[in-house]
Amino acid sequence: MRLRNKPWAKDFMAEHPEMLIMDSEGKKSHWAEEFGNPQPIHIEVGTGKGQFIIGMALANPSINYIGIEHFDNVIVSALEKAIEASKPSNLRLLRANGEDLENIFADAEIDRVYLNFSDPWPKTRHEKRRLTHAKFLQKYEGILKPGGEIHFKTDNRSLFEYSLVSMTDYGMKLLSVSLDLHANMPEDNILTEYEEKFSSKGQPIYRLEAEYPI
Ligand code: SAM
Repeated sequence: MRLRNKPWAKDFMAEHPEMLIMDSEGKKSHWAEEFGNPQPIHIEVGTGKGQFIIGMALANPSINYIGIEHFDNVIVSALEKAIEASKPSNLRLLRANGEDLENIFADAEIDRVYLNFSDPWPKTRHEKRRLTHAKFLQKYEGILKPGGEIHFKTDNRSLFEYSLVSMTDYGMKLLSVSLDLHANMPEDNILTEYEEKFSSKGQPIYRLEAEYPI
């Protein structure tokens, strides 16, 4: 992800607290109040410029969505897109690091985790930064309801293989695995920015759904 310096971003972000949460303090256990309803909550960790999470929110009004991204210069683009999409009431963007999930959400406050085109961190010494490392799987398990699911898409075969092993070693059950999602594109598939980019170059998109034990 190329980071452009956007000096106007800070002020613009601060002007839209109804859509972009810059500080999650006090939100833990109160996300249903934030949305004003008890609908299920699905989060995307590493939401980037927001195309997926905004598309999901528009397509599924009975689910609440939170797109989490740690870089200001990236999440500001998601904010612009959310405003263009008329600020869906079931969507929030959250500037936060996935490392802090257990401080942001209470146990079992979340119903599903999406990971899309997560940074691969190919070097072994960076393994713990991969969002499908056991350290992160444990964080997701803590905030998910029992039997909660992770839905993961990537163009990166090595990260995909790593994630299959990591999740099964963790005791998760694989519900579906696709080695070429676009060969048989599900009708409800919402493309991410990276998915558009890589699939237009003819690269296969890998996808899995995995469930935590109840
Ligand atoms: N999901 C988007 C897509 O598919 O188009 C963006 C993919 S991009 C390769 C990965 C994004 O995840 C980047 O914007 C990066 O800043 C964000 N990210 C990586 N690690 C993160 C973390 N620990 N917490 C929050 N965001 C993270």
